[in-house]
Amino acid sequence: MFLHGTSRINEAGHLEIGGCDVTELKAEYGTPLYIMDEQLIRRRAREYVDAFTASGLGFQVAYASKAFSVMAMCRIADEEGLSLDVVSDGELYTALQAGFPAERIHFHGNNKTPDEIEMAISAGIGCFVVDNLVELRLLQAIAAGKGASVKILLRVTPGVEAHAHHAYASTGQTDSKFGFDIGNGSAFEAVRLASDQANLQLLGVHSHIGSQIFETEGFQLAVERIAEFTRKVKEELNIDFPVVNLGGGFGIRYVDGDTPLAVSEYVAAITDAVKTHFAGISDKLPEIWVEPGRSIVGDAGTTLYTVGTSKEIPGVRKYVAVDGGMTDNPRPALYESKYEAMLANRAKEANEEAVSIAGKCCESGDMLIWDVELPKVESGDLLAVACTGAYNYSMASNYNRIRRPAVVFVQNGHSDLVVRRESHQDIIANDVVPQRIAKQPVTK
Ligand SMILES: *Cc1c(COP(=O)(O)O)cnc(C)c1O
Repeated sequence: MFLHGTSRINEAGHLEIGGCDVTELKAEYGTPLYIMDEQLIRRRAREYVDAFTASGLGFQVAYASKAFSVMAMCRIADEEGLSLDVVSDGELYTALQAGFPAERIHFHGNNKTPDEIEMAISAGIGCFVVDNLVELRLLQAIAAGKGASVKILLRVTPGVEAHAHHAYASTGQTDSKFGFDIGNGSAFEAVRLASDQANLQLLGVHSHIGSQIFETEGFQLAVERIAEFTRKVKEELNIDFPVVNLGGGFGIRYVDGDTPLAVSEYVAAITDAVKTHFAGISDKLPEIWVEPGRSIVGDAGTTLYTVGTSKEIPGVRKYVAVDGGMTDNPRPALYESKYEAMLANRAKEANEEAVSIAGKCCESGDMLIWDVELPKVESGDLLAVACTGAYNYSMASNYNRIRRPAVVFVQNGHSDLVVRRESHQDIIANDVVPQRIAKQPVTK
């Protein structure tokens, strides 16, 4: 397994992350356990900020909190000077409760409810990324009712098909549930309409072309198309766009063979393209906003499991089951995502067998990894799965009424609990049994 960030194998032959031996983390917190390498999260955030600073352009790096939205993560994003994307009232509430500055929060999504819009305007968030005409009218009406002036970007599809890891992760093409299409003229009409709304202040457009992208071409092409569009808007409507938001989607290394670029390379490609294609449209180059999610937190996460049962089917394969599965990591079932793993308590031992890692849910599809080489696996061993920091905890469920795991941040030999493990009480906390079917006390 590739060792990310501060991960290393210590003298005892145990995996160590942030200076913490995972066998000790298991003793303290139990398994399954999400372990987040805080130093690596901060390093990724700084790579973005440093690369944009070097470009000389104005910028905001908005962490897409859907990748991993918990209050402690909002604190780190704030400390590192990032902005924050939210997509629901729940993510907004999390950020506000964490004390994240409202003016650096951007609200996304293709179906924001009136309640969500009210809540976000009242909180004074920095920007709405408007997805469609229904939302545009709703937002204007609610803003007018509150006497507020609201900053907006319009989400557009530039007609770029990014080479994302899965079709469900491509969003920049014409046939997408998200945004106004540039190619068919609906984006232009939306700009005309938006610029006429008394309570909306149009800052520019937003595009997000996909996720887990390993090349720069898609981003460069999106910049080119948006610049052409911006030029047309300037020439025909005399409207300036002070901001261009290019979304997220920067790839990370999950397994051997993944070839992401360095953060600095993605950023340089984008800022160079902006300098080239936006030159001369307005007096000033636009401020660049990006929205990395996965590439901020993905490789900082490791999930630690305890091995339970195993089953060998002669001539076919050996299944090894762990104490979690699709409830803490639904990505293999959703996207056929690939992961690497190691025996974290016997990390120096040579691999001896290829096994397949099964979860404990009642689904044949609940498989975390097919065919991974490991030392001879025993019940009670610790299995570490790398690169689970993004879209794991945030997509976790209580299927089979399995309790969601704890999350810890580790750094410099210290661990801090940032999400506690759910209790049995948590599992039934929202259940209500109507009186007419309640179990009656036995009377004699
Ligand atoms: C999901 C999403 C992101 C983050 O994508 P990553 O692949 O995690 O970087 C950014 N912007 C928007 C609009 C998104 O939907």
